[in-house]
Amino acid sequence: MKAIQIHEPGDITVLKYEEVEVPDPGVGQVRVRLHAAGINHRDIWVRQGSLGAGIQAIIPGSDGAGEIDAIGAGVRDWSVGQKVVINPGLSCGTCAACLRGDHPACPAFRIFDGTYAEYAVVPAQNLVAMPGGLTFAEAASIGIPYVTAEDYLIRAEALPGQTLLLWGATGGLGLATLQLARLRGLRVIAATRSQQRVDKLRQMGADDVLLLTPGEDVADAVMSLTQGRGADLVVDSVGQASFPQSLGSVARGGVIVTVGATTGGSVALDLGRLFRHRVNLMGAFMGSASILPRLLPLFARGVLVPVIDNIFPLEQADQAHEQMENHGVFGKLILTM
Ligand SMILES: [Zn+2]
Repeated sequence: MKAIQIHEPGDITVLKYEEVEVPDPGVGQVRVRLHAAGINHRDIWVRQGSLGAGIQAIIPGSDGAGEIDAIGAGVRDWSVGQKVVINPGLSCGTCAACLRGDHPACPAFRIFDGTYAEYAVVPAQNLVAMPGGLTFAEAASIGIPYVTAEDYLIRAEALPGQTLLLWGATGGLGLATLQLARLRGLRVIAATRSQQRVDKLRQMGADDVLLLTPGEDVADAVMSLTQGRGADLVVDSVGQASFPQSLGSVARGGVIVTVGATTGGSVALDLGRLFRHRVNLMGAFMGSASILPRLLPLFARGVLVPVIDNIFPLEQADQAHEQMENHGVFGKLILTM
């Protein structure tokens, strides 16, 4: 089969389009003939080697959709030809965290890699039936961003009428957060650097859009939009460049969700403000395995809308990474195969 492999960490040139042996499903596993893979920021970290050293060769990509092509021993609930979406969180399934549905807290938790390929072998428990009315590209765009966003909205106990400040609003995770927060009745203040994307964010349901310009004080803008209260919830995937503004924007008793650090992960934390304003700081990384099967039907019914910026053939994975890193996106980038 054809696949994108990484043999050493580096820039986009380490993404090699190569011939690879088709993997066989083992006990409890299923082989999926992939038709589309969704690109996540995680894939860039994998490419850069920041998620582990000493890896021989890895096929990146966690989100994917396709058709079941072969079934391993002991798998009963699935049959060849069924259209499926990969639920990319892998966990043991038997520990206390797994049994209470908090899969990312499982000691064995990790995220699947291997969807930049024509075939992938996954545990049968990681398949979700693909609902009708979605294309493979749309189905592959949902997993990590929507599971992650829904999980932190649940854990932050987001309520109707609350205000959410959203950094990085135009990316896959940003638009997932925007849609899921609006569905819960939150007021969303979206922040973007791009003038061209202001109207698009409003069309997607953002109540207010802050255009980030040099010298713009986001905390001042949020305070003025909320009559001095601040945002009940701040979702920050930007990190070093935005965190001080996040802390300045959050309401008393509010929650800052940190879910990425695209500008760097080290920040000075004003503990005085944190404790005096009773701010909760929450780390977020993926979510419960139960979320994707619950959300997929909402896409099929048009309650949630997949937003795809660009589709590339598999062999142009390097071009897709180049766009994500240097040119920004409005929604998801997808590979097809
Ligand atoms: Zn477990």
